[in-house]
Amino acid sequence: MAGYQVIVVGLGSMGAAAANALAARGIGVLGLEAFWPAHDQGSGHGASRIIRQSYFEGADYVPLLRSAYQGWDRLESESGDDLVNLCGGLYIGNDSGPIFTGALAAARQWGLPHEVLDAEQIRSEFPTLSPATDARAVWERNAGYVRPEAAIEANLRLARAKGAELHFAEPVTAWSTEPGGGVRVVTPSGSYVGDRLVIAGGAWAPSLLDDLGLPLVVQRQVMYWFRPEATAELPIRRYTDAEHPIYVEERHDHDQIYGFPIQDGTDGGMKIGIHRSEAIRPTTADDLDRTVTAAEIHRVQQRTRRLIPATGEPLAAKVCMYTMTPDEHFVIGSHPDHDQVSIACGFSGHGFKFVPVVGEILADLAEHGRTEHPIGQFAPDRFRRS
Ligand SMILES: Cc1cc2nc3c(=O)[nH]c(=O)nc-3n(C[C@H](O)[C@H](O)[C@H](O)COP(=O)(O)OP(=O)(O)OC[C@H]3O[C@@H](n4cnc5c(N)ncnc54)[C@H](O)[C@@H]3O)c2cc1C
Repeated sequence: MAGYQVIVVGLGSMGAAAANALAARGIGVLGLEAFWPAHDQGSGHGASRIIRQSYFEGADYVPLLRSAYQGWDRLESESGDDLVNLCGGLYIGNDSGPIFTGALAAARQWGLPHEVLDAEQIRSEFPTLSPATDARAVWERNAGYVRPEAAIEANLRLARAKGAELHFAEPVTAWSTEPGGGVRVVTPSGSYVGDRLVIAGGAWAPSLLDDLGLPLVVQRQVMYWFRPEATAELPIRRYTDAEHPIYVEERHDHDQIYGFPIQDGTDGGMKIGIHRSEAIRPTTADDLDRTVTAAEIHRVQQRTRRLIPATGEPLAAKVCMYTMTPDEHFVIGSHPDHDQVSIACGFSGHGFKFVPVVGEILADLAEHGRTEHPIGQFAPDRFRRS
């Protein structure tokens, strides 16, 4: 069929990586994005995303994480950009919660370097933190964070340099398969035909893939930045990435929080997010409320102070979106009804660290219709089966 070999819908976290991986294989790509490059309207903004390997979401992710880490190394060296900071990671929970037990199980199963710390050891090694008395943590040196906007920009820049045609401010309003094979994609500027389609629409996946009826729930999520209060015992430099790890903490009867060291000096503050909380609201991407109230900020400040007593004044807050699946595993694979269409969505708040390997998987699916990477648990039709 005339036209493009592959059309990629959505040039956010995953779509930009797919465009880069496809262009690197010499495949003719058209990428279509509703907003601007590395924008702040979807799920891939906010300066930092945790990257870790002792994966409490499931030990089955570890092989993919190993491939993702190799992909991050490649992206950094190919782009020349500073994308990853391995400042270490601490997963704090207790003997009965999934964070500590899951991280430990994954580390042991795959022989990942780690240490187990009790509450006293956490306090003495990381004096900014004040864990619960029964806390236990897995400490992983090989963890840290990536810079999402810089990573998306690097993938877009490299894709374009390798020949990909990328259009911004051009939302896809409809797509269909063609009678003789291939696909057609419609935007306000016209219609395009291609052999294959990759749909990586993030929080817009429910409408882009409404034919599939995937049970996706979009959540409004807020990222908060607070000023750390320096004291003689806890100088500001304790919070910088040279001395402070990323952390995830669950505590009995409290929201699950995660946080980062201060990035790029002390002005930006320390970033905190709430991964799990009864206060998190479902939304749709188009109805998202982007205003953050003083009451929300106060609640998170109080919660953060339980772990980091020196949490100071709020500096900023930004809204973002998770796209959740019922089992919190991703949706990656060929469209169950159309072989020429591949989809990647439902990253359930933990997808960014996989960006390079998801890009390769989407390129494999578009080029060969299959991949060697272990994606069985992400099958798009698993919800139909259940
Ligand atoms: C607050 C927050 C914290 C997170 N923290 C972490 C973390 O620490 N570690 C981690 O690994 N992951 C984390 N995640 C998850 C991770 O960021 C997401 O899983 C990932 O960004 C999802 O990528 P995506 O490509 O699906 O979505 P996006 O990056 O949003 O990309 C989707 C793109 O599709 C475009 N699009 C949609 N509809 C159309 C259309 N009709 N036409 C054209 N373009 C369209 C959108 O504009 C967008 O650019 C976090 C997410 C949030 C919100």
